[in-house]
Amino acid sequence: MIQLYRFLKNIMVIVCVLNISTVKAQGDQILDGIGETGLIARYLFDGDAKDWSRNNLHANVKGEKVAFINDKFFGKVITLSSDNKGYITIPGSAVSNEESISVTGWINIQSAKSNQCFFDFGKNTKSHLSVFPTGTKNEAGYFAEIVSKTGNYKTEASVLEVNKWMMLSVVIDVPSKSLRTYFNGVLVSETKNIEVELDQLFSSSSSEQNKLYIGKSLSSNQSYLNAKLHDFRIYRIPLKESQIKTIYYKALKKDDPVVNENEKKDDDLEVFSNTTPQLYTKFLVDVSDVEVETTVGVLPKLPRFVKAVYKSGVELSKTRVIWPAPKDNVKVLKTGTYTVIGTIPGSDLKSKATVVVKEAKKVFSPNKNLEVFNLDQVSLNTDSNGDNTKFIENRDKFITTLAQTNPDNFLYMFRNAYGQKQPEGAEPLGVWDSQETKLRGHATGHYLTAVAQAYASTGYDTSLQANFLNKMEYMVNVLYELSQLSGKPKQAGSPFVSDPTAVPPGVGKLDYDSDLSIEGIRTDYWNWGEGFISAYPPDQFIMLEKGAIYGTQNTKIWAPYYTLHKILAGLLDIYEVNRNPKALEIAKGMGDWVHIRLSQLPTETLISMWNRYIAGEFGGMNEVMARLYRVTNESRYLEVAKSFDNIKMFYGDANHSHGLAKNVDTFRGLHANQHIPQIVGALEMYRDSNIPDYFYISDNFWYKTTNDYMYTIGGVAGARNPNNAECFIKEPATIYENGLSAGGQNETCATYNMLKLTKNLFLYDQRGELMDYYERGLYNDILASVAKDSPANTYHIPLRAGSIKHFGNPDMKGFTCCNGTALESSTKLQNTIYFKSRDQKSLYVNLYVPSTLNWTEKNVIIEQKTAFPKEDNTQLIIKGKGKFNIMLRVPHWATKGFYVSINGKEQKVDAKPGSYLTLNRKWKKGDIIDVHMPFQFHLESVMDQQNIASLFYGPILLAAQETESRKDWRKVTLDVNDISKNIKGDPSQLKFTIDGVEFKPFYETYGRYSVYLNVILK
Ligand SMILES: [Zn+2]
Repeated sequence: MIQLYRFLKNIMVIVCVLNISTVKAQGDQILDGIGETGLIARYLFDGDAKDWSRNNLHANVKGEKVAFINDKFFGKVITLSSDNKGYITIPGSAVSNEESISVTGWINIQSAKSNQCFFDFGKNTKSHLSVFPTGTKNEAGYFAEIVSKTGNYKTEASVLEVNKWMMLSVVIDVPSKSLRTYFNGVLVSETKNIEVELDQLFSSSSSEQNKLYIGKSLSSNQSYLNAKLHDFRIYRIPLKESQIKTIYYKALKKDDPVVNENEKKDDDLEVFSNTTPQLYTKFLVDVSDVEVETTVGVLPKLPRFVKAVYKSGVELSKTRVIWPAPKDNVKVLKTGTYTVIGTIPGSDLKSKATVVVKEAKKVFSPNKNLEVFNLDQVSLNTDSNGDNTKFIENRDKFITTLAQTNPDNFLYMFRNAYGQKQPEGAEPLGVWDSQETKLRGHATGHYLTAVAQAYASTGYDTSLQANFLNKMEYMVNVLYELSQLSGKPKQAGSPFVSDPTAVPPGVGKLDYDSDLSIEGIRTDYWNWGEGFISAYPPDQFIMLEKGAIYGTQNTKIWAPYYTLHKILAGLLDIYEVNRNPKALEIAKGMGDWVHIRLSQLPTETLISMWNRYIAGEFGGMNEVMARLYRVTNESRYLEVAKSFDNIKMFYGDANHSHGLAKNVDTFRGLHANQHIPQIVGALEMYRDSNIPDYFYISDNFWYKTTNDYMYTIGGVAGARNPNNAECFIKEPATIYENGLSAGGQNETCATYNMLKLTKNLFLYDQRGELMDYYERGLYNDILASVAKDSPANTYHIPLRAGSIKHFGNPDMKGFTCCNGTALESSTKLQNTIYFKSRDQKSLYVNLYVPSTLNWTEKNVIIEQKTAFPKEDNTQLIIKGKGKFNIMLRVPHWATKGFYVSINGKEQKVDAKPGSYLTLNRKWKKGDIIDVHMPFQFHLESVMDQQNIASLFYGPILLAAQETESRKDWRKVTLDVNDISKNIKGDPSQLKFTIDGVEFKPFYETYGRYSVYLNVILK
């Protein structure tokens, strides 16, 4: 055990510098550089014990005389003392299900007496983490201590000084096996080699067992705290020194001397020397140059993989090249030729691209020549062994729980906003839909979509289908009644405001506010303008126009249009599956409300709104408004859709100089899931407006995202820089340097939206790479994001070595964004297996999933029988007759052949991996197509650190099953000429071992895992 003491002359100096003027340490939980998803709870204690994070983990102050007093340094703070016997409790769920934990808080000790407890968190006195800033009777000096059944661990330091504010931070870093204490941002003590997992200290299954006290220990009622407290925070990540320093300096409103300079130092990511062989690049002999054409103004689409020659025996013909990624299009403003040099990580070889810039030709403007099948035309089957597939398992987890939900819970906050009585049994949802959460109503939107899809998908069970029909109609009826109240007199003759632009502040209020508390919420719906519907009053929409930023205070907002998008999309989804006229009426009414308000705003205001971090996040408002236009043919909805154009990202600037429309990467460093739905919306705009730029925007975005920002599971984003796991990395093609360095986090709802974009693009352009990505993201991310025995699902999926997935929302009572999109994903798993051409002449078989297609337009049923991916065959049985093409997807990984026979007779086919092949004939009843596509093992590298790679078998990512957390990448040595030589196992179970370590599909992985390996080829 290594004890590290650094006593603290320098700390004293810093403490002395903190002088007289009152610091309003409101700080900014986002700009502190950690990202919202890392924060569990934050208590300012400036008058109450509210949680200022978005998780609503409000604390309780115990002790009758506990007071909030004025402090010359921080303004109002809480004071606990031996007199008032005060302490604070935090909800036990705050620490459930976490991997690591960090606690920071400002404390000003008022007495040097021992036995004071700063905080004590745990199940009981045998399993807990406690901090004693002035020591105990038995032990002098500050200490933080973990007591657990696997051992007790302490960090020790000198006692805190009396009457001095100190920011005290304690970190349990499970992957690093370390317990650390920081005083004012400086590490003062670290204990390494701690053998502890947080589920020993905190219960995850029954969080009420967890006792979280501030100012009181679990062991004794005698202990107390005599101190002032301010800004107490709990994080779910092991904070690094630079992060703690940032919190510290931001609290003092001082410039942070460490940010940027020190970013790299405490990344703790393995750094490989330049001489470390990087997988196949070690055997690279030559790389070819390329020539690419483009037109004036448009950056060239440079191939990410180019032809390469390897030493004999290596069966590869391409290598990854990293090209410079300009932020504008100055290189291509006139015709001519120029060259670009691309690098290959781990090799001195370079590839040269000659770019020929030509005059713009005829505009490429593809037609939407494919259509999806309705959800009720495709059903999922058990596999050819009679077993449930992962698709069926996950679908049933969701459908079963969804069927048991009470729709009144999802209507609770809507009724609350309109001041209506709650029906018996109605209970508010938690998490982001609770009383005071400014995003409330978002889960309801997902719920509308989910029940619509569940209704359409459960033709196999009439009682289930009836259940979802009832839910759908009930939801729509209630929302319709509420929407009809807006902007109309409460009773005949009473005043009202029907004009959406004339909505006044709430009755008795001087200004608009986002107060949703039981006491503070406005319910004067007659003043809200006609057509308004939301789970909160119109204030947040109006405040956004007036410049409000994101935050939990009543002067701040969350993301009003984000929530609205979910609600409107849900209503249109219901309209689509059963033409419920009221669902359309509600959507139109609110569409009008939005149109009237936004159409009077200057463009600069719109740009400012949509570029405001999180506050301006609008989901796919452009998509849903364009879709409303498509359904109604009323042009004002297309107009309002256009007002959601993200001009900066789409076009570079107001003059449309460049941007994604001209293939310039304008989204690096931006919030991923804020922007992906905007791109989905751009494609819908293309569909409805025929303006080609909208197509290029979405197509260029897709190409860049999947090539330069993607992890091997198909997830995107997850950044160290700009220090927010929800953002795209700040420079393209730096997933190792900027993504995995911060944990390789990637948000599940971002993948949901990427799949939606991919599917829609494919309807225009049948490139094999689109469905290759779809398959990757579906099997290795979406299917992998659901818990084993419940519909609980992931938010971020971490991808560092020895990570573990955390699943939330098993009973559908409290939703984050990802819990919301999971409802949608798992109720439409069959929707991309087959597509048809609009002229009904071709059938596209995109995915090899046991299923039955009822192609009603052709009076043909096609059954797909397979145990894929537990076998590498599939069989299509035609029931019906007719002349049409069957387009079979030849996956990119099918490099060992793709064999097709019809009625037992082998066919001569042109099967190129990453494309589709065509079978054209007059099909007759009982025709059988057999397809064999041998799986093989292959490695996929991180583009900027190629020895870090994932192992695939066919389309399936195999994760190493880890027994404990780890810091370093798992090392695996494989034979360069045939990596399968070192891999044993059973393909029919997809279970393998390498050197005794078990590998399983990531979607079958529920414990610790390594998705990335450090692969050495010999
Ligand atoms: Zn999410």
